[in-house]
Amino acid sequence: MELWTEELHRLFPDKFSTSEEKLSKYATDAWLLSRAPDGVFFPESKEDVVALMQFAFSRGIYVTARGGGRGYVGGAVPVKGGVVVSFEKMNRVKEIHPIDGVAVVEPGVITGVLQAKVKEMGLFYPPDPASVMECTIGGNVATNAGGPRCLKYGVTRNYILGLEVVLSDGSVAKVGGRTIKNKTGFDLTSLFVGSEGMLGLVTEITLKLLPFPPLKACLSAYFERMDQAILCVNKILSSGVLPAALEIADRFTLQCAREFTKGEIPPFDAHILLETDGSIGAVHSDIEFFEKILREFQPKELTRAVGEEACEKLWESRRLFSMSLKASGLTKLNEDVTVPRSRLADLISLGEHLQRHYGLIVACFGHAGDGNIHVNLMVDWSKKENRDKAEEALNVLFDSVILWNGSITGEHGIGIAKLPWWNKAVSQQTRLLHEKIKKALDPKGILNPGKFV
Ligand SMILES: Cc1cc2nc3c(=O)[nH]c(=O)nc-3n(C[C@H](O)[C@H](O)[C@H](O)COP(=O)(O)OP(=O)(O)OC[C@H]3O[C@@H](n4cnc5c(N)ncnc54)[C@H](O)[C@@H]3O)c2cc1C
Repeated sequence: MELWTEELHRLFPDKFSTSEEKLSKYATDAWLLSRAPDGVFFPESKEDVVALMQFAFSRGIYVTARGGGRGYVGGAVPVKGGVVVSFEKMNRVKEIHPIDGVAVVEPGVITGVLQAKVKEMGLFYPPDPASVMECTIGGNVATNAGGPRCLKYGVTRNYILGLEVVLSDGSVAKVGGRTIKNKTGFDLTSLFVGSEGMLGLVTEITLKLLPFPPLKACLSAYFERMDQAILCVNKILSSGVLPAALEIADRFTLQCAREFTKGEIPPFDAHILLETDGSIGAVHSDIEFFEKILREFQPKELTRAVGEEACEKLWESRRLFSMSLKASGLTKLNEDVTVPRSRLADLISLGEHLQRHYGLIVACFGHAGDGNIHVNLMVDWSKKENRDKAEEALNVLFDSVILWNGSITGEHGIGIAKLPWWNKAVSQQTRLLHEKIKKALDPKGILNPGKFV
């Protein structure tokens, strides 16, 4: 009898591959685990996806969607084999409509490419994951991606007006629409956003666009102590004016960045980066206002930048924090926990405690305004003893975050990386509800199997 992979070769000679090179390329994302699929499918249209899903459904073949493969939790890793559907050829921006304030795109469009395209027309697509030049809109939808600007602008979910989704049996659901307001039935669009490829394959996305803000300005401030920086964050957030982004970094992050840049980063224990944007007059007055607040907390160094280019320079040095951790050669377990903002100081102290207690480097930085801090455990993965310590430290981290009414992931999703803590993070009722929804939409359990539902 013909193997199903051979059948797919016959049905889609140019769109299905089982070459060793492809199987190994599509076996991983930006997390640790790797598992090769049995084949990789490269659809060029919705019709291709429908045909594949009809085939897979009739034979019970596993299907895992893939965008840019930049996920941090193993979400696109086909842990049970089967077919990986890579959306890289479905990368057309079908429409940008300035009056409606919408863009209609295929899922494989790179997020940064879309942002540049709409900017040429004076429009703005705000969600800004740091992987923006490599990740796709489809992946952003499936993970409900965030980024620094989410403080003012919200996450991917806030920009999704409508979706076209191919369900597990090959049927096509169109949910939502292209209007800013829409209360027709259940909010099924939101159900698919953040569903990590387990409820359907997204083949078209209608996005909301905003006018591009005429001006932005940034402040970068270094403090002697973290408690000063956290008090400053609290004051900014209760000042009545909301920045677009409010980022923080701790001693260990700055230390790594200092070593990496051979002293470019000054020798202080805490850093704040603030961005504000809007009309020219408003930005000039807001940046004065924020600078006054920052100065109350006696920063050791403070830099003001006005305009896109000057701001980008400050963001570049902020990006060095992440790069310098990677350059250490250690394995970086990047946990994107989120706590109520009043718990920020507790979270940073916990990072310091984990570092002391387990003898691992723990570097914290991220989106202070959202209470969403990347707690990075830096581990020498070659030693079992260190891997065990990291697991213990992660248990303590997640237990504490749950106790503080926080969430174990604010941006990256559950995937496989957070699977061990899924049961603790949500109630039994919530898990049951997930299972019922999954069963209704994917009765044979063929979509992204082996993940959290
Ligand atoms: C350096 C770096 C920085 C990062 N910074 C951020 C950040 O600031 N904020 C943030 O939120 N994340 C960040 N991430 C994580 C990652 O970039 C996001 O999760 C992103 O949304 C993943 O998009 P992707 O296209 O790479 O998706 P993939 O990794 O390919 O897939 C992610 C998930 O989406 C599913 N999926 C993909 N396409 C579809 C589709 N068309 N239909 C259905 N399901 C689909 C996959 O099955 C998988 O479960 C970062 C990652 C890296 C490596």
